[in-house]
Amino acid sequence: MPIVTRFAPSPTGLLHLGHAFAALTAWRRARSAGGRFLLRMEDIDPGRCRPAFAAAIEDDLHWFGLDWDGPVRTQSRHLADYQAVLDDLTRRGLVYPCFCTRADIAREVEASVAAPHAPDGSLIYPGLCRHRSAGERQARISAGERYALRLDMARAAPAEPLWFEEEAEGPIRCRPEAFGDVVLARKDAPASYHLCVTHDDALQGVTLVTRGDDLKSATHVHRLLQALMGWPAPDYAHHRLLTDPSGRRLAKRDHAATLRDLRAAGLSPAAVRGMLGLD
Ligand code: GLU
Repeated sequence: MPIVTRFAPSPTGLLHLGHAFAALTAWRRARSAGGRFLLRMEDIDPGRCRPAFAAAIEDDLHWFGLDWDGPVRTQSRHLADYQAVLDDLTRRGLVYPCFCTRADIAREVEASVAAPHAPDGSLIYPGLCRHRSAGERQARISAGERYALRLDMARAAPAEPLWFEEEAEGPIRCRPEAFGDVVLARKDAPASYHLCVTHDDALQGVTLVTRGDDLKSATHVHRLLQALMGWPAPDYAHHRLLTDPSGRRLAKRDHAATLRDLRAAGLSPAAVRGMLGLD
């Protein structure tokens, strides 16, 4: 099967060295195998994403010497696709509306003896809205109350254990239940990262997901969504994250060196590849 990889940035800022590492890693895996490399803008969060950043990302990738196959998929233009998945899961009774605010959740968690965290560091949802009656749900929705949609993890759990294939490690047993009832559609965004990324990887025929180690734990949830929706499971190759000299991971919010800055400072793409240790 020909290899299909992708780079899937969220256009919330300019690309920094960490993104360049991720993009080049995916691109090289595809190109060295005669496969396809796709570019996807994960711009589902209207509060944080900007079209200007998406345009800058394309421009920076071109400068860096990367090309991609086919048109860029821009998630915000495909909301009906994600809604169809949510409708399907709703019909099957696998998601429920959650009216909680962050404060409601924090209060409930504080009042409990343990405050369990998911592997990605987020608080596990204490389940306040899981057992509301159909009547209450309908009444609150009709009254215009805003809600998120959560996956009912207990109902969604598969009868047989699921596994995902991590290239350097082999099969990893999935433990999606460790995340609790994850959000699949937010109050302020029509769908969540977990839902859109798995939908699009399936739709676009991605066979190998390369991305940073920070997203490795999310794969447990992704594999469950793939199983629920009958989508194929790609292989995964999570890579190390770049860090600054003090060992902290590079992040947009810390103003990590952007490709724009490096380009303006006169560096060549080859010099940037050298900085990444990818020459
Ligand atoms: N859009 C995600 C991000 O920018 C990456 C998604 C992925 O590669 O699975 O962090």
